[in-house]
Amino acid sequence: MKKEVVIIGLGRFGTSMCRELNRLGHDILAIDTDEEKVNEVSDCTTQAVIANATDENVLKSLGVRNFEHAVVAIGDNLQSSVLCTLILKEMGISTIWVKARDLQHQKILEKVGADRVIQPEYEMGVRMAHHLNSEKIIDYINLSEEYSIIELVAPPSISGKTLFQLDIRAKFNCTVLAIKRFEDVNIAPSPEDEIVKGNILVLMGHKDDLKQFEEKGL
Ligand code: ATP
Ligand code: ATP
Ligand code: CA
Repeated sequence: MKKEVVIIGLGRFGTSMCRELNRLGHDILAIDTDEEKVNEVSDCTTQAVIANATDENVLKSLGVRNFEHAVVAIGDNLQSSVLCTLILKEMGISTIWVKARDLQHQKILEKVGADRVIQPEYEMGVRMAHHLNSEKIIDYINLSEEYSIIELVAPPSISGKTLFQLDIRAKFNCTVLAIKRFEDVNIAPSPEDEIVKGNILVLMGHKDDLKQFEEKGL
């Protein structure tokens, strides 16, 4: 479904969100104080405006209150980022996502009511560490302190076995969410589905259990 999103701050993060959301068919209002940044996204937004997003009256006059979603990607200016988030919150925007530069920034944003706080450099660093740590794991998503989703390539040791035979849930308390075979993604794997070497397994579970599976189940 088509969404209306206001994106504030057009650094690399904000700009890349603009481009991708536009590609996915959504309506975007982009705001930045920098004319050059605004011009750069004029081709991929419904409206791109040069404005200061910490000015409540400006946001009101742009009709920001009618948007369902807001993304605040104001970089290192902590004060502006927090103030802008606060104004959007008071306007009643239902989902507000904000980019933070560090943990302290993240905590403040959560206190003022950001629905989701993203620390791209930190999060990508964690993900990449997991890629490098394990040759088997090809992707890693943090769900919480305790739970995550991993993608791993099925090694020859489990090739030819069905999910029933592997019994991953009972033995390791992990759930196979999907099996990817090249372009084909099976998002509702059944017990009789057979794993073939090179298939990609998408698994969800407690981090300790996933580690156990990786070490002992393959
Ligand atoms: P990235 O890492 O994604 O490139 P960043 O977090 O390092 O970005 P910047 O590159 O500085 O941050 O991008 C932040 C953008 O936010 C800039 O284009 C800046 O002009 C804009 N910005 C800062 N303050 C405001 C404000 N009050 N209103 C609107 N835009 C703002
Ligand atoms: P991030 O966005 O991940 O916070 P960044 O890409 O914005 O990082 P910096 O914050 O400047 O970049 O971090 C780069 C780090 O690399 C700094 O700690 C800096 O001291 C270090 N660095 C830069 N040049 C060299 C060099 N020639 N040799 C060793 N370290 C370097
Ligand atoms: Ca940056």
